[in-house]
Parts: sequence; C-alpha cells; structure tokens
Amino acid sequence: MSLLRVAAGSASFVVLVSALEIGATRLEARATTQAQPRWLKGNTHTHTLNSDGDTAPDEVVRWYREHGYQFLVLSDHNVLTSVDGLNALLGADERFLVIRGEEVTDRFQTKPIHINGLNLDSLVPPQGGNSVLETVQRNVDAIRAANGVPHVNHPNFGWAISADELARVRNNRLFEIFNGHPQVNNVGGGGSPGLEQMWDTILSRGILLYGIAVDDAHHFKRPWDAESSRPGQGWIYVRAERLTPSAILEAMEAGDFYASTGVVLTDYQVTPSSMTLTVRRRPFEKYRVQFIGRGGRVLWEAASSSATYRIRGDEGYVRAKVLDSNGRVAWVQPVLLPGASRR
Ligand SMILES: [Zn+2]
Ligand SMILES: [Zn+2]
Repeated sequence: MSLLRVAAGSASFVVLVSALEIGATRLEARATTQAQPRWLKGNTHTHTLNSDGDTAPDEVVRWYREHGYQFLVLSDHNVLTSVDGLNALLGADERFLVIRGEEVTDRFQTKPIHINGLNLDSLVPPQGGNSVLETVQRNVDAIRAANGVPHVNHPNFGWAISADELARVRNNRLFEIFNGHPQVNNVGGGGSPGLEQMWDTILSRGILLYGIAVDDAHHFKRPWDAESSRPGQGWIYVRAERLTPSAILEAMEAGDFYASTGVVLTDYQVTPSSMTLTVRRRPFEKYRVQFIGRGGRVLWEAASSSATYRIRGDEGYVRAKVLDSNGRVAWVQPVLLPGASRR
C-alpha cells in the first residue's frame, strides 16, 4: 500500500539522486530507450465540456500535448471522463499520457470543498459531512477506497479550509500550493493567510504535506482574458522512471517532484546532510534561491541560479523556493527532519 511506504519514507526522507537533465528535447530522445528517472511535466487539475469547461476533452488534451507536457489529468466536477479513447488518439508510449481523474465537488454550508481524485477506479460521488474537516476527510477516504490518490484543491477558494483543518486530514499527502484559477486567493489577504504561510504552519507542526501547482483550467478559447481560468499557469515536474499512472502517483506521494509557475530546475538533490538545486537559466534573468525552515523562516538565501544548503538537523524541516526576476516561482518539496514537532 503506497501510503505506508510514503509514511515510512517521510520520516527519514532520504533521496539520493544522480544529476538529472530536464530539457524536453532530451526527454523525447531518451524516452523510448531507457528506464531511468526523468522529469515529467504534468497538470493534475483540468476541466472540459464534461463539466464547466469551455472545450471538448480531445481539444483540451491536444493543448497540453502540444505545449510540452508529458501527462495530464482530466478532473471534471463529479464526472470521471474515460481516457482510453483520448490516449488512443493523442497518447504515445513514454511521451504523453492522459490519466483518469475527477474533482469530487462537495461543500459544507457555504464553503466549497473540492478534492481531486487521481487515477480513480470508479466515480466518487460527493460524500458530505458535518464539518469542513469531516467533509474533506470523507471525500479523501472515498477517493482512497476507489484506489485513487487525493489532493486537496484551492484551500482559500471561498476561504473554505484553514491550515488547522488541513493539518488534521488523514491519508492525504498533497495539496495545491498554487492554482491558476483567478478567484482562489492563493496569496491570502485581509487577515487571512496565503497558501504558503499555511504550508509552513502545517510543516512546523511536524505534519508532512507536499505542495502542487495546477492550472484548474476551464477556458481555452479566450487566452487574452485574465479573468478566465486559462491553461499553462502552474504545473509539476515529477521524477519517475516510467510514464505510467502508478509511477507518477507513487513519485508524487513520495515527494519526488516540484511545483512551478515557470522556473525549471536542471538539477535537484537531497541527501541527509544537504539540499542542492540548480536552475535552468534564461538570458538576462536573475534568481533567488531560498531555503525555508520552521515557522517559514528563511534559513539562507542565495542570489544565484545554483545553491547548496547544508542541513544542520534542528531546522524542523527544510524546503526550497526559487524566485526568478520575472515573478515566476518553483517550490521544492519539504524534508521533515528528525525531531520535528508532532502534534
Ligand atoms: Zn475546484
Ligand atoms: Zn477545478
């Protein structure tokens, strides 16, 4: 059971990785000949005409295929779209894959509770509940029962899910640190924390959550309209040997991925004593690499495109964030350190 493996891995989280190359061209060239870990670009939250999107599934899939992604999850509201025909039409071994999904769309009173189920065996109806936490938990549990992988969507949409509630959800490892929909309040405001602050609050309690970036794309027909929910806003790069649903989802639940709104890494290594990353540079662009620990404190910041942080062991957790001079970000997954406080 993958959860057990994740839980065991998260306690010590030791990832030893050789240098990796991420360039899409290299991936294409290597894809069919070898099974080594490589970075696969994907989006796990997408809508189509099957719910409130404006475009048919085949056109949506084509957009992602033509824009350099290796995988896509279709996640319509309370609809599980068949992907067999889409993969026959647009999929290609080790190059592009469509994965089944559903945005299980529930609410508690006025608060929208949306939980994605990735690679579900069957449709999961919204489960309801007597509180925000119970509603989240019952939907997460139903997704697990259907052999899917859950992720909690846009916690600040409708200011629905607090850091405390998110911290208390069981059997969930993933939540959206960035969602491209223009009404989801990623950065907080008016006295309410942004998602990154919530993440640090949760990690500071010794609870491991991984942050994903998604499009939540609905609108493919008006790319000029910043009020619409467009594709290409946020994504993840997952390190996996094979382009299969199980390989991608196991890597995600083990934290072997990073989230991005445009920053690409050429290298990323974690050992028990260090965290190293290198950014793929663009002409004239500059970078800040931050290593962040307990309480959201910046442990160290490098004004360069490459940095190594030496882990002391008393930071509670360490995660990295890269900011480029054009406002784009990459979020590298946290490592919980021994002795991190537990609730
Ligand atoms: Zn939603
Ligand atoms: Zn959505």
